[in-house]
Amino acid sequence: SCEKKEEEVNKKEDKKVKDKKDEERERRKEKMKRAGAVYNQMNNKSLISEGSTVLGRFEVDAIIGGGGFAQIYKAYDKVRKEDCAIKMEHATLDIRRMKLEITVLLALRGCIGIPEILGQGKWQNGDIKSQYIVMQLVGKNLSEIRKALPHRRFSERTLYRAMLQILKALSLLHGAGFLHRDLKPSNCCIGATDCTRIYLIDYGLTRQYLDKGGIVRKPRAGVGLRGTIRYMSLDAHARHDLGPNNDLVAFLYTTIECGDGSLPWSNESTHDNIIKLKQAHTGEKLCTKQPVMTKVAEYIEGLSYHNIPDYEKLFGLIEDCNPPDLKDSEPYDWQYR
Ligand code: ADP
Repeated sequence: SCEKKEEEVNKKEDKKVKDKKDEERERRKEKMKRAGAVYNQMNNKSLISEGSTVLGRFEVDAIIGGGGFAQIYKAYDKVRKEDCAIKMEHATLDIRRMKLEITVLLALRGCIGIPEILGQGKWQNGDIKSQYIVMQLVGKNLSEIRKALPHRRFSERTLYRAMLQILKALSLLHGAGFLHRDLKPSNCCIGATDCTRIYLIDYGLTRQYLDKGGIVRKPRAGVGLRGTIRYMSLDAHARHDLGPNNDLVAFLYTTIECGDGSLPWSNESTHDNIIKLKQAHTGEKLCTKQPVMTKVAEYIEGLSYHNIPDYEKLFGLIEDCNPPDLKDSEPYDWQYR
């Protein structure tokens, strides 16, 4: 009975810790909401004005994009004499986001398929404070490109070559100890100068999953929802802490959507229905229109949090999806007009 009491005390303690954690999470959420409101008010205001020069080198041009949090500007690098991009974020937003993105971009500087970071700093436009990253300019993303194609899907002569590049970039990211956690077609961009190169962008949701010794960190229980509903793994829906396998599931869903033109849950809006459809579509059921992808799907679905994926094996499986007569020099779908 003594043991039982102890167990009860432990349970109570666990519950206290859990409640405290929940409270903390709620407080953080509220803070983000408030920041979001500030951001939305600022949304139609430029964080930096055209013609400004940052770091004495980058001349700001027009705004070219905006994500959930950021404003993206085109800029001109007076040193390299070429265009670049500046990602600006309102300073009241969670500062850790951009800090982590900078850490990742610095760790992966020079890697193929990762936009090169050129600088970073803080800016003040009137009374609006922001932080920014200067980086290599990239071109259109795979979501926009797909929607502009005649059948709204990529040909098999393009898809697997493009996705292999994304998979290679992802393996470099994982190798450096980080997860992406928001892999999707709109975060895969063609190069601005070389449109046969594909880049993985947006490291705003990354997480370090290896500790300094290269050991997988202990998974946390009941983590918040991260990423984009359509592409997230069932583990992410279940609020499990994520591993490299979950980025690979997002990679799988991205590949299926890009090749099929949609996912079985594309028109669903509730979590429950999306989860049910994801559960029902695994392996060959997910790959009915791309049977060549079945082995890839089965391999990825077989991985769990603690597995280190065999990237070489995956590269081979994706290469095997290419039509046998495909030449490397063949143009990609977006190069035909
Ligand atoms: P967020 O973290 O707010 O989602 P992203 O980094 O995803 O911001 O950027 C939002 C959009 O801006 C992208 O979908 C892309 O179209 C554009 N963009 C981002 N980075 C670049 C870049 N380096 N060059 C050109 N366009 C970019």
